Amino acid sequence: MNEATGLGAEIVRIAQAMEGAGFAPTKSGNVSARWRDGLLITPSGLPYAAMTPEDLVAIDLDGGIRAGERKPSSEWPLHTSIYRARPDAQAIVHTHSPRATALACARRGIPAFHYMIAFCGGADIRCADYATFGTQALADNAVAAIRGRKAALLASHGVIALGTTLEGAYAIAGEVENLAGQYLDILAAGLEPVILDEADMERVSEGFLRYGKAG
Ligand SMILES: [Zn+2]
Repeated sequence: MNEATGLGAEIVRIAQAMEGAGFAPTKSGNVSARWRDGLLITPSGLPYAAMTPEDLVAIDLDGGIRAGERKPSSEWPLHTSIYRARPDAQAIVHTHSPRATALACARRGIPAFHYMIAFCGGADIRCADYATFGTQALADNAVAAIRGRKAALLASHGVIALGTTLEGAYAIAGEVENLAGQYLDILAAGLEPVILDEADMERVSEGFLRYGKAG
């Protein structure tokens, strides 16, 4: 695993940041990045504070263990399935961040009430159909919901985000939480969010491409 140390350290750093942000209560959530023709993923059941790069598990895209002493996260099918379906995904962050999870428990996706929805890859953030954690059914539902997007909510569960880098995937997961909070605040105030139309959202996406970042 020595040759994976730099990437491993980055995975651990992002996982610990995720927990520090309150996005991974009760040791939930997991983080992975492509490595060789498979991936490196956080292990099952280990507190993030104690995690080191040596605790990560190298698996192939079918879940076969290549290296590592520990068991991979129980959500490994979620990660392998997304990497198989999405060549653009280089890293994946799965959180149980509180406000996005609250929305996911109402089985509500997030419409384009704010232009930053486009930062998450498209004109909305969908909520995947429910399936039991750790199952291929959950992975399949997530792959469907994240199609053409960089993030999706997982019904009665949490958030999945992908990126071309670990930092990018984590930024998407954080923005999903931010947007979910704003959306819930509007609903809690009894207000009706105004939804941006397709043309508005296309202009935002073009702007992101032009400037390489969110405005
Ligand atoms: Zn989870």
